[in-house]
Amino acid sequence: MTDRVVLATHNAHKVCELQRILRAAGLDVELVGLEEFPDAPEVAETESSFAGNALLKARTIADFTGLPAIADDSGLCVDALNGMPGIYSARWSGQHGDDPANLDLVLGQVADVPDSRRSAQFVCAAAWVVPGVSEHVVEGVLEGSLARAPRGGNGFGYDPIFVPAGYALTTAELRPEEKDAISHRGQAFRALAQVMASR
Ligand code: IMP
Repeated sequence: MTDRVVLATHNAHKVCELQRILRAAGLDVELVGLEEFPDAPEVAETESSFAGNALLKARTIADFTGLPAIADDSGLCVDALNGMPGIYSARWSGQHGDDPANLDLVLGQVADVPDSRRSAQFVCAAAWVVPGVSEHVVEGVLEGSLARAPRGGNGFGYDPIFVPAGYALTTAELRPEEKDAISHRGQAFRALAQVMASR
């Protein structure tokens, strides 16, 4: 019988992306999102690291469902801002999920920072919790730098101002499959698939 695994997200795209990655790693699991568990608790991201928040979400959903659970937490870390917005990326402007306001605030904060010091990273931690059995966390990092103005219509969040190292385009100008191949989330999910395949 195919194992069921819950991904702690309401985002159907994330479920499809991870299901593809798990299949490519030879894993025969049925991945379901939180749409299947409408009463699942909303988990506040109260930890001080991406890994801590990913583990907190995966543990809570594993406890609630009794099934193995995967969760991720991600964000943008800007070196000139001492790693911020970091775990606060989704609510940097004060309003959770206000992508344009978050992007504008970061751009304004680095307006005077020269090109030589505009380095940044997208970071993603992914956690896998099998209730009462085991816990694993892995991380993916995409190095890059910040553009001076938004460019591109793909992606979400800070994609229009993030230029991956070695590229001239922002991640909002890359095709989705090009971004997946190098992204922090793609790296973390592929690493997690390897951990799951080796258990
Ligand atoms: P999460 O959903 O709690 O992991 O929050 C992630 C936040 O970090 C998002 O709201 C975005 O602001 C930012 N972020 C994470 N990954 C990306 C990405 O791939 N592109 C653009 N922004 C991202």
